[in-house]
Amino acid sequence: MDDRSPISAKATAKTTDFDAIVVGAGFAGMFMLHRLRQQGLKARVFERGSGVGGTWFWNRYPGARCDTESMEYSYQFDDALQQEWNWPERYSAQPEILKYANHVADRYDLRSDLQFNTKVLSATFDESRNCWTIATDDGKRVTARYFIMATGTLSIANKPQFPGVESFKGRVLYTSDWPHEGVDFTGRKVGLIGTGSSGIQSTPHIAAQADHLTVFQRTPNFSVPARNRPLSEEERNTTKARYGELRKFTYEQPFATDFHLNDQSALSVSPEERKRIYEQRWNEHGGLHFMAAFNDLMFNSEANKTVAEFIVDKIHGIVNDPDKAEILAPRNGVVGCKRLCSDTDYFETFNRDNVSLVDVSKQPIESFTANSIKVGGNDYPVDDIVFATGFDAMTGALLGVDIKGRNGQPLREKWSAGPRTYLGLQTVGFPNLFFISGPGSPSVLTNMMVSIDQHVNFISDTIRHLEQSGVALIEPQQPAEDAWVDHVNEVADLTVYPTCNSWYLGSNVPGKTRVFMPYVGFNTYVDKCKDVVAKGYQGFTLVRRAAETA
Ligand code: NAP
Repeated sequence: MDDRSPISAKATAKTTDFDAIVVGAGFAGMFMLHRLRQQGLKARVFERGSGVGGTWFWNRYPGARCDTESMEYSYQFDDALQQEWNWPERYSAQPEILKYANHVADRYDLRSDLQFNTKVLSATFDESRNCWTIATDDGKRVTARYFIMATGTLSIANKPQFPGVESFKGRVLYTSDWPHEGVDFTGRKVGLIGTGSSGIQSTPHIAAQADHLTVFQRTPNFSVPARNRPLSEEERNTTKARYGELRKFTYEQPFATDFHLNDQSALSVSPEERKRIYEQRWNEHGGLHFMAAFNDLMFNSEANKTVAEFIVDKIHGIVNDPDKAEILAPRNGVVGCKRLCSDTDYFETFNRDNVSLVDVSKQPIESFTANSIKVGGNDYPVDDIVFATGFDAMTGALLGVDIKGRNGQPLREKWSAGPRTYLGLQTVGFPNLFFISGPGSPSVLTNMMVSIDQHVNFISDTIRHLEQSGVALIEPQQPAEDAWVDHVNEVADLTVYPTCNSWYLGSNVPGKTRVFMPYVGFNTYVDKCKDVVAKGYQGFTLVRRAAETA
């Protein structure tokens, strides 16, 4: 039940244009707006797209679907909403998720405070007035007391530069910014660069339509069959009947989702028993659940090797051509170090006659011509190029806005050696600036909808506390921020995450500082946040309001 009653019925901004400005109308921004309104605060959301949905608005490539189960990848703030919405599949596809986002916008009448097609260019903290001035690309400026970045973690594309790309005469497509009208590949020769989740999801769909698909693979990836299927009404109703219990349980889990963890070490059982459990997980659970086959796969390299070998064998069992299978198999890879992919018929697609695979790990893509991609002196003819080359993750969108805090310090300068936050929520020198699922929070290592729920509630409860207790500003203390950054790294070092090049570390973007950005352990994070509040916002400085400034 939603028990957050309004403080006052009408908007309260007195000295600023708005109480709060939120950037981004994805799931985080929409919920943030809803919570701010419930407090009677005057808020506006700026969104660069022409509609709601964030990642699900932009990533419309064929095959795009969520790898978290839909019954869990949904809002939990209103029981009526979760009871009335019917997800059609175990892992619903992008159009269905976008439909849900639009339904929420309409159901809670959010659109009147959402301003679309508006990019936020800069935000500057005004120390004389204790407020933020936000400039947008329509030439306007507004002021607000709270500035909240709900810009998503995977929203700014990584666009590697290849020589000659400007001379290419065909269509250039990005999975992260797919044309709304769709793309017809019939009769086309398509080149696809990138074999992360986006490339792996789109490959079977493009192959089924195109004349020929050539996949350019730099690093082979681990992928597990999603085992997606339609949800029956009975299944939906069973989950709905225990939603309260399920939501509570996921809040207590390290990855904020119900993975049905087998609480045994992979090394504690015989090789035969291990294989039996992997087979069962592969066939019955699939997807990200696969990694819950044992409790130490993400923490113990020896345990991880057993799951890596299992998947490599599976790839060899699926792909008929042993040479192709060997290129696709991540030998010596660490499963889950780069985010595990979840697919439908990905490896099977390489058995099609119209699909070829080019290994660009040793010989990178040299250049593009008007109608081909050159690798190792060979020309691969293509009519269309699909870039599935990922994102400037976690910090790209935050640093994309020219944010200046106290003394005019740019956030880009403060974070030049990597992001520094307290709890992923705030950073020293930038009062009343909040990040939703920012670096230093569990965010991308969890079911994002649960992380968003937790963060938005934390931020709105904090704002409520400030409003009620006459506090003008909240900002982390330097020792708290330093200790949190150290803690994030210490916890990451207990896992296999830092052992490869991944977007979690920023190492997918040339020149980006290598630092592990998300926090491992949603449940411990939730406890820490509760403890911080119980101790009077421990680690934050709260500055009381002086006389109102005009
Ligand atoms: P990604 O995982 O970062 O994959 C990017 C791919 O592009 C990698 O294979 C990378 O190779 C390749 N690449 C980058 N630069 C290249 C270059 N210069 N030459 C050749 N190859 C290059 O990006 P993504 O697939 O968009 O996925 C990002 C994240 O979004 C996922 O991990 C997931 O969290 C989320 N996502 C989720 C879903 C889902 O829910 N199912 C779907 C899509 C995305 P290297 O590995 O060698 O760098």
